[in-house]
Amino acid sequence: MKKNLVVLGSGFGAFSVLKETDTNLYNVKIISPRNHFLFTCLLPSTTVGTIEFRSIIEPIRNIKDAEYIQAYCTGISENNNLIYCKDTDTKKEFEIKYDILVISVGEITNSYNIEGVNKYAYFLREVADARRIRIKVIDCFENASLPGLSEEEKKNFLRFFVCGGGPTGVEFAAELHDFIEEDVRKKYRGFEKLIEIILIEAGDKLLNSFDAKLSEYTLKIFKRQKINVKTNSYITRVTENEIFVNDGSIYNYGLLVWAAGNTATELIRNSTLPKNSRNKLIIDHYLKVNGSANVYALGDCTEIPDEPFPVTAQTAQRQGKYLGKALNKIAKGKEIKPFKYKDLGMLAYIGSHKALANTNQYKGSGFATWIFWRSVYITKLVSLKNKILVLFDWFKTFVFGRDVSNF
Ligand SMILES: Cc1cc2nc3c(=O)[nH]c(=O)nc-3n(C[C@H](O)[C@H](O)[C@H](O)COP(=O)(O)OP(=O)(O)OC[C@H]3O[C@@H](n4cnc5c(N)ncnc54)[C@H](O)[C@@H]3O)c2cc1C
Repeated sequence: MKKNLVVLGSGFGAFSVLKETDTNLYNVKIISPRNHFLFTCLLPSTTVGTIEFRSIIEPIRNIKDAEYIQAYCTGISENNNLIYCKDTDTKKEFEIKYDILVISVGEITNSYNIEGVNKYAYFLREVADARRIRIKVIDCFENASLPGLSEEEKKNFLRFFVCGGGPTGVEFAAELHDFIEEDVRKKYRGFEKLIEIILIEAGDKLLNSFDAKLSEYTLKIFKRQKINVKTNSYITRVTENEIFVNDGSIYNYGLLVWAAGNTATELIRNSTLPKNSRNKLIIDHYLKVNGSANVYALGDCTEIPDEPFPVTAQTAQRQGKYLGKALNKIAKGKEIKPFKYKDLGMLAYIGSHKALANTNQYKGSGFATWIFWRSVYITKLVSLKNKILVLFDWFKTFVFGRDVSNF
């Protein structure tokens, strides 16, 4: 008889498991509040309209012969092989039995309990976040265009804050810069001197997971792009109109995008499964949760203690591919080998048609690397439809510019 395989999540880890798992061997159920897979690596490009939202998502129902349920898993009862769920819309609660459980619920954005962040900052994690940011960016320009405003009032609307100098914060600042440079200049004339992008980072450099030279190069390019980078600085409080920084300075602002780090989801925080001090599930080299017979976990919400992997899409995707194949073998009674990880490195876009490549074979930056960055992501997109749509969006942006309609 086929076993019940329940997969939590619809992100990089879960989607890769689902693509590999043979539905002739398992009854597959997917539980996730998000009914689509999201290619987060290109999400910053959607915040200003370089790429459209639907070009980087893939409906989870396109996965054949698997049942999808739009809900959160709210608890796991390991002893009863049972999960508790709550529907996101109707709030209906229900339980689901599993024979094998795969957890790939990722993490959420960390506000570090800083006053005002949850209320006033914009996170960048889901399509809905990117959509809110796009609307707000355009609102800032429209607000600054109202008649009768002083220079100072206009500047306040046009001060964009980005908190976090990791890849997400850097890529958002880069996309915003391109938007201002290529589109705002033509559509909101006279604003060039009033706009300010401030990127604030608590550490002493940007992109600390990249090679030091690439990090310095980014700083140099950002200086040229007039992005004001404040390292060794952090935000202490946010109100509707003001941002308070640790050096005592206070800024009025139009938009604050918060990309300062990740933390565990409520499900993992409240779970009794073995976790480390950062609330990551502890898994072994077969991606099995420590001490469990039938619960597997992967991606951002996990850690293998003696071999910590970078928290990236690449890691989750490779783990998912491995686990899907391993589960097929297990169903057939075949032996499985432990997961082996080969780091392919990281890429980041830094604006003005320049990107960084931090791979084992090649560490590079500039225009040629930007072409490489685009080619890699086109090949990594998960469906032919996504690839065609993204190529079309890039072409459309190049020819017509970004659309500043607000809706
Ligand atoms: C803006 C942005 C840009 C990024 N750029 C890059 C990049 O360029 N390169 C790179 O390698 N990485 C990048 N990352 C990181 C990458 O997205 C993550 O490392 C990757 O998504 C991790 O995969 P995952 O499966 O662990 O989690 P996710 O992909 O985050 O998926 C988690 C899934 O679990 C679901 N879920 C959450 N809670 C529950 C629950 N209680 N019950 C059921 N389902 C639940 C969520 O809805 C989601 O579907 C970026 C991330 C962001 C936010």
